[in-house]
Amino acid sequence: MIPLSPERSTSFIPEPDIGAKRYYLWTVGCQMNEAESAKAGAILRQAGFQPARREDDADIIIVNSCVVRQQAEDKVAGKVGALAKLKRANPELKIALTGCMVTGQEAKLRERFPHVDVFYGPSEFERLTELTPELAEVDVDLAELPHYYEDSENETGISAFVPIIYGCNFVCSYCIVPYRRGREISRPFNEIVNEVAEMASRGVKEVTLLGQTVNAYGHDLPGETELSDLLKAVNDVDGIERLRFLTSHPKYFTDRLIDTMAECEKICEHVNLPVQAGDNEVLRRMRRTYTVEHYRDRIQRIRDTIPGVTLSTDIIVGFPGETEEQFEGTMRLLEDLRFEKVHQAMYSPRPGTLSARWEDEIPWSEKRRRHQAIEELQTRISAELNDRYRGHVLEVLVDGKQKGRWRGRSRGNTLVFFDAPGDWLGETVNVRVTEPMTWYLIGEINQ
Ligand code: SAH
Ligand code: SF4
Repeated sequence: MIPLSPERSTSFIPEPDIGAKRYYLWTVGCQMNEAESAKAGAILRQAGFQPARREDDADIIIVNSCVVRQQAEDKVAGKVGALAKLKRANPELKIALTGCMVTGQEAKLRERFPHVDVFYGPSEFERLTELTPELAEVDVDLAELPHYYEDSENETGISAFVPIIYGCNFVCSYCIVPYRRGREISRPFNEIVNEVAEMASRGVKEVTLLGQTVNAYGHDLPGETELSDLLKAVNDVDGIERLRFLTSHPKYFTDRLIDTMAECEKICEHVNLPVQAGDNEVLRRMRRTYTVEHYRDRIQRIRDTIPGVTLSTDIIVGFPGETEEQFEGTMRLLEDLRFEKVHQAMYSPRPGTLSARWEDEIPWSEKRRRHQAIEELQTRISAELNDRYRGHVLEVLVDGKQKGRWRGRSRGNTLVFFDAPGDWLGETVNVRVTEPMTWYLIGEINQ
């Protein structure tokens, strides 16, 4: 999962209905949290609540938390703490805290945040009924509620994110996710395909299939179903133009999956494949279950099979015991493989994980230095890679407007902006790149 930033209010805003009770959703963390906030919103709307523009206009506030790193956890704690003031001013206000901070921690959290009314884990939506009498009475069939969410950054309904597998069966030594989200549970195949077909009938053009380990999809289902089968079925849904999936684990990035990407015309030529470190000893202590050689082999196979493919990865710097030489291994890997984008984080010990028992001996200043070194390297590489698009025509799916310009993404997932009169929302346009920037491209329509 790619941590989204910064925190977002996922309340979408229809015309106000005077007198209706209102809810406010505050979400941090990954796309999975975003999807679960959307589902909570759907439940609240069924109970007659409406989205509030601001938290101080709300009768219910739901905070959806992330604890993948200390920084995220601190932000959530700050937010929840600050809500105590609103609750004092309005004792009728109901507050719920959900997400990865909650699982197994309810008693502690109840002590720490006594002004919170309900604590519920990532998929315990039925607990929302404890918030108010309206919710207690509403007859919500949870199975009937959509699992997906439509791109809340843009709220244009062009792109949608669909969770297909919950939880994670890996136990990377630094990672809190398996403890908070449990073991893998794949959603039924037909349910997903039907949901995508329904979304397509409402105008959704681009679908991103989600999971902490999205390419473990199907391993827990009867038969031989895998992500490749699901991708093929979704590729056949009329109306869907683009298909993506996040986040893959290198161990399960099989030849079959790569061939499926090459065969299905709607699957975009972009792979996010977190490597985490470029050194085998570090990978072993991270319990990542693959080697640098395996990772390089997968990237080679992807590049040989999918022309024009773009790649991104995740890196952790300053893992316990990471020597300067091991860190250099990561730098070399990035230099050799030339990813379009690197999501990097400084190691943050998470209580309860294996590596939290090891001394976090690399000082903050050294973690920051390594972080900065990667940032400098990657800024250069990203700029060079974007520069090669100068004068090229890219197919851009327009998903919104930003600062007066149309905005969309290429199939390779690069952000592209262009100026043009008319309404281009939801259109796939050919854009000639005139000005490549480090993190995005500027171009003009080339129809
Ligand atoms: N399932 C995905 C990652 C999910 S967590 C995968 O296997 O890669 C999202 C990202 O957060 C990870 O890729 C990792 O880079 C980062 N992360 C997770 N735990 C962390 C920790 N304890 N400290 C720093 N970064 C961490
Ligand atoms: Fe965490 Fe590893 Fe599972 Fe990713 S694969 S969610 S990093 S345990």
